[in-house]
Amino acid sequence: GTEASDEPDDHINVVLRVRPLNMQELTRRDVFHSSFPGSGTIEVDHNSSMRSFTYNVVFEPEATQEDLFDHSGVRKLVDMAMNGYACTALAFGQTGSGKTHTMTGPPQQFQDGKQIDPKMYGLIQRSLFYLFKQLEQQSGSKRIRASYLEIYNEQVIDLLNANHGKYLQVRWSKNRGFYVENLFLVECETVDDLMVVLEEGMRNRQTGSHGLNEFSSRSHSMLTLTIDSEQTDPDDENLAITKRGKLTFVDLAGIEKVKDSNSTAESLFESNNINKSLLVLGNCIASLGDAKKRHGHIPYRDSKLTKLLADSLGGNGVTLMVACITPSSHQVSETMNTLRYASRAKKI
Ligand code: ADP
Ligand code: MG
Repeated sequence: GTEASDEPDDHINVVLRVRPLNMQELTRRDVFHSSFPGSGTIEVDHNSSMRSFTYNVVFEPEATQEDLFDHSGVRKLVDMAMNGYACTALAFGQTGSGKTHTMTGPPQQFQDGKQIDPKMYGLIQRSLFYLFKQLEQQSGSKRIRASYLEIYNEQVIDLLNANHGKYLQVRWSKNRGFYVENLFLVECETVDDLMVVLEEGMRNRQTGSHGLNEFSSRSHSMLTLTIDSEQTDPDDENLAITKRGKLTFVDLAGIEKVKDSNSTAESLFESNNINKSLLVLGNCIASLGDAKKRHGHIPYRDSKLTKLLADSLGGNGVTLMVACITPSSHQVSETMNTLRYASRAKKI
């Protein structure tokens, strides 16, 4: 066959999570009409017509944090990252749809040094525990380093060196590809070291000098683990096999309200309300998800976010996209935008 048809079609997986109604929404009973006819499909009543969307998996409001970890395919990302691939999990959706809850657990838990309930751990913590469990069973040496940054308004901020207060530059080199200059890297020997990194970054994200509430809804946060391992070649004990994999978790800026509630997909992507990186990411993912375009020009250079994700998105690793929506009827047009953004990523 052609080159394109030999390409495995599972570089990008898209799952959908519908959060439960919150107290306020429950009291107002403002749930929109939707149904789950099975096998990754959701049907949504929008302007009196039923629209159907299909993804790899659809998680209904009852799904637990554990269900997300067990059935979203994130384990595969960890396994591949341990084997030298670059893999990425991204959460997207409007503000309040549950992106942070899904990735890191309820955002409130990072305030005031509270003890975090392990039952509420998100995809990140569960992946970190899983990674270390797997690494323990592996012989040979390994080295894990973590970085945590935020992109706001096309500026990169280090979440592990927040007092530094400077914007960091994104550079490119032949050996490294795109990278962030002077980014803090933390060596992590245990899973607890990584948990400390996560908590530190989350606190800095919430209480940084910027202090604005809208900040976290307009910024992307990116936690990256670099996993180096060295093992003896099973066929020759004098040879070592070295591997460098990368595992990245991104909590994306909100896909927000557009002025026109009857907006089409086109107007969302033309809208000034959509953050530039989100727009470019959507374009990159749409091309990468299309086997015919995957080997063509992908516009990574058009935003900081996509520059930094270029090796993960375009490599042989796997990208998991978690679309988050609310079932509130007041938000159905934003929900439609998220569903369309998710559908662009993968034609199933
Ligand atoms: P986002 O990061 O998309 O802005 P959050 O993760 O902050 O949204 O979620 C908004 C609120 O809803 C938070 O208080 C969060 O704990 C709660 N929430 C989100 N998803 C769920 C869920 N699946 N189950 C229970 N509460 C949730
Ligand atoms: Mg959030």
